[in-house]
Order: sequence, then structure tokens, then C-alpha cells
Amino acid sequence: MYRALQRSVASAISSRVASSERVPDVSSLQAVPQTIPLLETAPLQILYHNQNLFHTFLEINDALEVLFVLEGLRPACRQLVHEDDVHRVVGFCESSGLHWELSDFKILKDQELLVVPEYPGDSHYFVYLSRNKEVCQLAKFYEATRNDALFGEVLGYPQCCVRFYISNYARAAKLRDDYTLMSIANTHFQPSFVTNNMARFFSVSLISHFPCSYNCPETEKMGSAFFECLTAHNSSLAEYVKEVLQGPVISHASTGVHLLKGAKAVGSTIWYKEPWLTSPNEMHATLRLCNNIKYLGRNHIQLCQDGHVVEDVSGDHVGFVMFE
Ligand SMILES: [Zn+2]
Repeated sequence: MYRALQRSVASAISSRVASSERVPDVSSLQAVPQTIPLLETAPLQILYHNQNLFHTFLEINDALEVLFVLEGLRPACRQLVHEDDVHRVVGFCESSGLHWELSDFKILKDQELLVVPEYPGDSHYFVYLSRNKEVCQLAKFYEATRNDALFGEVLGYPQCCVRFYISNYARAAKLRDDYTLMSIANTHFQPSFVTNNMARFFSVSLISHFPCSYNCPETEKMGSAFFECLTAHNSSLAEYVKEVLQGPVISHASTGVHLLKGAKAVGSTIWYKEPWLTSPNEMHATLRLCNNIKYLGRNHIQLCQDGHVVEDVSGDHVGFVMFE
């Protein structure tokens, strides 16, 4: 999530090149591919000291990260903020008692490039937020110096998950810096929705890290506390988030993450109404034609239309998990 970027951050800072530094695929920088319909009963409102967080932080997962920092449930977070919106974030921090730090570089989000602050084009910053000034400064420092272990700690990630993240650099690099297949490989029983980080491509997630397993006890404890906090602030939005995070998810090495919504399991058959996609691809097209999945194992599923098997998918490049 941050390693690939850090690698480029360090080189961009040291060489001070304007725009030639390529940032490898970084999940946190991936564009939100489509807007998912909000439930009519879930207003985008989280009030904190009479301010609606969504006026400053537009995406659900961004607003939630900030809420959990404000509530002391995590020490710090990092937000990708458009340069024109930095003043809004700073204004929010100053009125809500949060400390903030700005990255020493800018990011061209669409091209995935890092540039110096003087770069004149449309760009983003990383803003580090914390209730503690020193923690805020450390977050910025550890990212700039590529210290993943301490950066993860400062952001409040479980140690087991930070170790998992670091020890799987090489494998993740081959999967566009996505760890979900490896998290699924370590998942041995039906996990709780609070650990599901795969709907982040739709801006919905309680956690911000890659869990070592979707059964990771530390992640589940953290996610449950986050969910409880969200419920206390906006119970209908919490129900919406739960609905998005529950159910079956397919992670596929070349076509990405597929969320199957309106799902109902009957034995090893999972009937579904609608697949959500991160970008148009062949598997999504097939899932749209089909209406059920036969579960044959974590790495083996069949995409079916009623009783007819349309495609058999198996191997390390596919992972299936169903969140309860
Ligand atoms: Zn863990």
C-alpha cells in the first residue's frame, strides 16, 4: 500500500526530479472506478464538533479514517488530498484540534507520478493527520525514509499485518502491489465483514491496511471497534457499510476484485444478483452473464448460469472469500 510509493518518494526527494519519477501501481492511488449507489436511508453525514466530515473528506473511507483518528481509535492516518483542497483539510484540522503535516512532494494521481512541490500542474499531496504533533511528524518522516515497519506502527496497523506486508513485497509486486490474494490464502474460516478491505476500490472500508489474513484477530478487533464507532455516529451509514462489506468477493490476479451483491448461499452454491467491478474486464462480463458461483475451494470456483458451468477458474491467481 505504501511501500511502492515510498520507494519512489525517496528517489524523488533525493533527486528532486520534476516529473520523471514513475510511481508503481499503488492501491491507495487507484481511481475510484464507479460510484456505487448509496442506500436512500444512509445520509452522508458524520458530525464531529458540529462539522460534517463529508464536507471536507468526500469519500466514505477517507472520512472514516479521520473519524477514527479523532476518536482516538488509531494514532494517525494519511490522506491523498488535491492541492486545491489542502486549505480545507487544514481548516478542518485547526477547528477540530488535529495536527497535520504535508508531504514534501506532490503526486500526479492519474499518471501515478511524484513531482516536486513547484510543479505547476494539477496534483495532490499526502496529508498526515494525528491528534499528536510528534506522531504526525513521524508518519511523514517514516514514509519519506521508507521505514515500513515504523510507518505501519505509527498508523496503528497490527504488527502481524505489517510483518505480512513487508515479507510479501516481492509477491505483491507481481500482483500490482495488491495483497488480497495472499490475505485470502491465509484465511481458513468465514471472516467477519469488518476485516474486508476489498471494497476500498469503491471507497468503502473500515480498515486501511492489508490484513495478514481475513481471520486476523487483531484486525477483527480493530475493525469491530471502528464499526461500533461508526454506528454510534450514524447507524444507517454503518448498516450501509456493513451491507457493502458482507458477502462474496473474488480476487483475481489479472482482472482485480469482484464483489457479488445480493448474494445468498445454498450449500456450496452462491446465488447473486449483481457483480460490482473495479474496471471493465472479461471476468466481469462473464459474471454479468452468470447468476451463481459453485464454491469448490478457496482457489477454485465455477461461474455458472443456473445449472450450466460457463467458466471454471482455479489456481493461485484466483481467491474466493465470503464475509459474514
Ligand atoms: Zn494481522
